[in-house]
Amino acid sequence: MIPVREARRLVAENAPPRRVVSVPLLSALGGVLAEDVASDVDMPPFRRAQMDGYAVRALDLAALPAELRIVGEVFAGGECGAARVAAGTAVRIMTGAPVPEGADTVVQVEHTEPARGADGAVGGGAVRILKAPKPGANVVARAHEMAVGQRVLAAGTLLRPPELAVLACVGRAEVPVYRRPTVAVLTTGDELVAVGTRPTGAQIRDSNGYSVAAQVAAAGFPYVYLGTARDEKADLERKIAAGLEHDVLLVTGGVSVGEKDYVSGVLAAQGVATIFHNVNMKPGKPAWFGRVRDTLVFGLPGNPVSTMVCFELFVRTALAQAAGNPDLERRVVTARLAEPFGKTSDREQFHPARLTLAPDGTRTVAPTAWKGSADILGMTQANALLNVPAGSPPLPAGTTVEVIPIA
Ligand code: AMP
Ligand code: MG
Repeated sequence: MIPVREARRLVAENAPPRRVVSVPLLSALGGVLAEDVASDVDMPPFRRAQMDGYAVRALDLAALPAELRIVGEVFAGGECGAARVAAGTAVRIMTGAPVPEGADTVVQVEHTEPARGADGAVGGGAVRILKAPKPGANVVARAHEMAVGQRVLAAGTLLRPPELAVLACVGRAEVPVYRRPTVAVLTTGDELVAVGTRPTGAQIRDSNGYSVAAQVAAAGFPYVYLGTARDEKADLERKIAAGLEHDVLLVTGGVSVGEKDYVSGVLAAQGVATIFHNVNMKPGKPAWFGRVRDTLVFGLPGNPVSTMVCFELFVRTALAQAAGNPDLERRVVTARLAEPFGKTSDREQFHPARLTLAPDGTRTVAPTAWKGSADILGMTQANALLNVPAGSPPLPAGTTVEVIPIA
């Protein structure tokens, strides 16, 4: 039995190698950029109006209201053409349009009104400026936001919606990212029936297949659910062989010391070398980890909460490394224990808990009511794991403890 810390170190050490792939822009969401990206354009590529209104010369606004003759109109995507702003004139302009020569300022339309002719009628082709913005207002200089050749995103950047906008702006329809490993999920157990079936006798419905596949999906990785294997060698052999086609295979159940716990034997027969088996933790003690070539295999204990906890602590570490995104790993924070925690164990505990953040930034944690490693309903109340060292005495309320947020 090895300590959790050591188990995590072994996972990190054996993580699949990082590979760079080129993916369509939208598929890069949630991925990590594998190369620096430079801009191929100036942004904006021309002097851009930042308001709908009138392009003017600031000098003409010395006395207000100022009346200026409208000499042209320019729209977003439109050329300025012959429109040129000379003394006493203005060009009607829309947001995103190029500011015509001669103009240095755009007055927003809300600060203007149509000028009236001598007869009081509007529409005489002139505008009255009621309020003057600062000289230069609402005109964005060419390359103000980014310049050709400028590095706009660095390798290692997590691609969120704003980063996708930048990549689109600089013309990257395909993006080099670290390849996200594909994950196969296999559940095992003669007692398991599919979700659409009513269990009879000693049967139960398979829930691990769903929690684990959902954990993979929530972390942003593609998965295949291979279904449930019977507790018999032939079925396990066939389904494990299919699972080993993927980068990561997650097998739930069958890694304990029961008579029909064949999983590790079948894995060994298929060339998967054991890296660890049994971790000093509660829940999750039978956790198994091995590797064949670049494929990693996790044997997650069948008890549904153990499975989920082992995914958080071990599988995420492997996925984070392969995808080049360290933020995917769960990290420890400290918090104040809201109530006494009396459970003791010679194993390191990961007890479902509720972590709350007060407006002043203090974190408080309360263990949730939990009936043990099979109690999935208890787990629904948790957003964190209270991490208590092996052999720790009962902890009074107010103790500073370590907590792993998982939601
Ligand atoms: P095992 O690790 O195979 O000894 O299973 C430990 C416990 O977890 C047993 O009570 C199993 O019935 C239960 N279990 C195993 N796999 C699943 C599953 N896919 N869904 C729900 N419970 C499971
Ligand atoms: Mg079993």
